[in-house]
Amino acid sequence: MPVVDQLTRIVIAGGGSAGWMTAAALSNLLAPGCRITLIESEEIGIVGVGEATIPPIKQFNKLLGLDEFEFIRRTQGSYKLGIQFVDWVEPGRRYFHPFGTYGRPFDFGHLLYFWHQAQRQGKVSNSLDEYCMAWVMASQERFALPLSDPRSVLSTYDYAYHFDASLYAAYLREVSERRGVVRVEGRIVETRLNGETGHVEALKLQDGREVSGELFIDCSGFRGLLIEEALHTGYDDWTQWLPCDRAVAVPCASAANFLPYTRSTARTAGWQWRIPLQHRIGNGYVFSSNYLDESAAAATLLANLDGKALAEPRTLRFVTGRRRLGWNRNVVAIGLSSGFLEPLESTSLHLIQAGILRLLALFPDRNFDPALRDEYNRVANSELERVRDFLILHYHLNRRSEGELWRYCANMPIPDTLRENIDHFRQQGRLVQREYDVFVRASWLAVHVGQLNLPEACEPPPQAHAIDSAQWLERLRSSLQSEAGRLPSHRQYIESHCRAAA
Ligand SMILES: Cc1cc2nc3c(=O)[nH]c(=O)nc-3n(C[C@H](O)[C@H](O)[C@H](O)COP(=O)(O)OP(=O)(O)OC[C@H]3O[C@@H](n4cnc5c(N)ncnc54)[C@H](O)[C@@H]3O)c2cc1C
Repeated sequence: MPVVDQLTRIVIAGGGSAGWMTAAALSNLLAPGCRITLIESEEIGIVGVGEATIPPIKQFNKLLGLDEFEFIRRTQGSYKLGIQFVDWVEPGRRYFHPFGTYGRPFDFGHLLYFWHQAQRQGKVSNSLDEYCMAWVMASQERFALPLSDPRSVLSTYDYAYHFDASLYAAYLREVSERRGVVRVEGRIVETRLNGETGHVEALKLQDGREVSGELFIDCSGFRGLLIEEALHTGYDDWTQWLPCDRAVAVPCASAANFLPYTRSTARTAGWQWRIPLQHRIGNGYVFSSNYLDESAAAATLLANLDGKALAEPRTLRFVTGRRRLGWNRNVVAIGLSSGFLEPLESTSLHLIQAGILRLLALFPDRNFDPALRDEYNRVANSELERVRDFLILHYHLNRRSEGELWRYCANMPIPDTLRENIDHFRQQGRLVQREYDVFVRASWLAVHVGQLNLPEACEPPPQAHAIDSAQWLERLRSSLQSEAGRLPSHRQYIESHCRAAA
């Protein structure tokens, strides 16, 4: 029997990745008795460029009951072991942000100490990447699912996916409609508010229809049709820390290699992404309009593709920052309507997933207890601030001499929380852990070391004095190399398990 105050009508405004991820999750995880309606406008379309993800997406897909291989086939997907950063510190220098951890199981602390010691004594010249399973596999273009045996180095890496965002939304639409979600095609032209409570009551469509509801999820993209245009929630602009505000994107034909990782290459006024899918490579140049115009960005992008361009470059404009309240009255903003942190670490789809799961954990009834809303907003704010700090770290620690953007970023004031993280790591190799950080310690380690924020000293782990650091490192390096060498190539793995139809 339904609880008296249980919500019975949920309306999702927008059918991009955010809208359909929300619809699929709510229709699968909410108790029966709730009607879910999704309104979208084909005429307006979707952003459709969210192609790279981070590992927690696996849990989200599992919650939806998706089969991994079927999902990859349906979305022309590929595997992602991390991100390679090219020329970010200075031209000619590269590093890898891996998914998973470094070293053998259980010796994360030893690794940093031994590597630091051996480097200082001039006994090794290898980069930290060489001691990380995800990079060793990535550099050999290999892939297989990790093992669950915690004694094996093949359990130390993690993975995510690259996929075609439009195909993902279409796939989730199918899943959601099978579970009873009602899709309404139409353009929302007006939001009707209750005169007393200020809550949204109904959305009016261009053809005169009206869709009413009790809880509204705003997945309408950058405009924030409900959260901003109707409720005037406000937006914190973070452009002073993350100045990029444009991207030009273009797909190109596949190349001979099939990399199991995203590549991010620094350019004069921003950076270029390269995301390999089964049927094409996704590319884009994220830049700051203060330092470059759109046609020059498009020209740079087209001059730096690994295959023939398959479309005209498309420009996207954004303002990095966050909506002041992700949940305001009876509207929860999910996706681009809740804010946008540029795509450097592929966090947007993850933040959608995190928003959906948080909403489910704090699900309101008709009384809309403000404590639920406040808790939702508190966690969302912390989560976004941690991602913000992680992104700024990449820019701020650059040593590039070419390009005004880079000089600005190296000299700009940064948030205190990030300043503390940088200082702790530089002084003692200490990785500060903060609440609701999406990124694990290994991720922060990768970027601190990759961007040359190297520790001045490093706490020795127990028994360290009895071990020869260079020998220890060499044994580790060669065992990772030989284990990786036995794995199939990324291409072979996809061919045998989840090749998409041509
Ligand atoms: C350059 C760039 C690169 C990115 N790369 C990544 C990445 O690698 N990884 C990642 O995780 N994320 C990435 N993102 C973010 C990702 O694309 C988005 O988070 C994701 O696509 C979700 O978008 P959305 O559904 O919120 O908005 P949209 O895709 O814009 O969808 C909005 C929906 O609302 C509907 N709508 C709007 N107005 C109306 C109206 N008046 N009436 C009816 N319907 C309406 C539209 O039709 C559409 O269905 C990137 C974003 C950008 C800009």
